[in-house]
Amino acid sequence: MMMSGAFGVCCFFLLFGSQSKVVFAAECNEPDCSKAKFNYDRENCLGPVKWSGITSCWSTCNGNRQSPINIRRADATYSDIGSLTFNIDLQKAFQVSSSNSGFKTNFKVSEEDIVISDLTQFGLSGNSFKLDGIHYHAGKNNNLTGSEHSFDGEFLPMEQHMVFYNEKYSDVKSASSNSDGLLVIGAMVRASNNTIETQFPGCPPSYHAALSEVLTDSFDELEDYSDSGDSEESEESPISKTLTLLDLLPPDLEKVYTYEGSLTTPPCSETVTWIVMKCPITVSQVAVDKFKSLEVSSSEEVLGVHGNRRPVQRGQQDTTFTLLKNF
Ligand SMILES: [Zn+2]
Repeated sequence: MMMSGAFGVCCFFLLFGSQSKVVFAAECNEPDCSKAKFNYDRENCLGPVKWSGITSCWSTCNGNRQSPINIRRADATYSDIGSLTFNIDLQKAFQVSSSNSGFKTNFKVSEEDIVISDLTQFGLSGNSFKLDGIHYHAGKNNNLTGSEHSFDGEFLPMEQHMVFYNEKYSDVKSASSNSDGLLVIGAMVRASNNTIETQFPGCPPSYHAALSEVLTDSFDELEDYSDSGDSEESEESPISKTLTLLDLLPPDLEKVYTYEGSLTTPPCSETVTWIVMKCPITVSQVAVDKFKSLEVSSSEEVLGVHGNRRPVQRGQQDTTFTLLKNF
């Protein structure tokens, strides 16, 4: 092909966006874990299929309980796992601040600890999990392939992750290396003018107005993303509007799927109890578009070119894991 000649020395440099940048081959394999980088470019040596080989600390990315997965609804087994119990009222307002790190916009809740306990039925008896932050994943230009998890092979424009860590560990990082360390609540995010409703039969219509405003305002203010794997977070900027748990969760918040999985970014730790909400949340198309227009600083590309979603790791034909549901 024409392109193969032009890019025949691709092991030594790669072209990014409109400006060329030299990326030395060494960056494809970084012995120092703290300096390792990754990205979402399928063609690149730092892209998702190569993550496990970039640095030795990321070898788990090739493991056998990796996330995200395709959720085949018909394969989920009913189990009396109860539902989520939070320590605060679902309608209690809290302050939020935002910051950037890696490919993530991280929202933190200030002046309030949000804790989930009573997870006996999830196999996490006696443990409570504290909310560390909330972030989002989106796809390429195509509006409908943005979520990381899929339902029967179908994706939504974005996916929201609420990351909790087991309170018996000091922080999310130390928790991530323990088998009972992390719990992530994933919710599919629909854009308000996405009229494909059939993907979620039985889900009541909803519109998350407060969340749409918070996302639109903060994505406007945020600076570029970095593609450094372990980058420092940018300064936190407080958001004037408040949120509640109801603003972050779908209307049918009692109904969930659960499975044992991993982080969807390096180091891909296989220590995550996933809780994926049955129903999506809905935000404005403006909020989705603002998120996708964030730039990745080192490559001068916008998120919309490659997105920040990892491809599905399991679940197309794979039935070797247990997917439970409580409805
Ligand atoms: Zn995530």
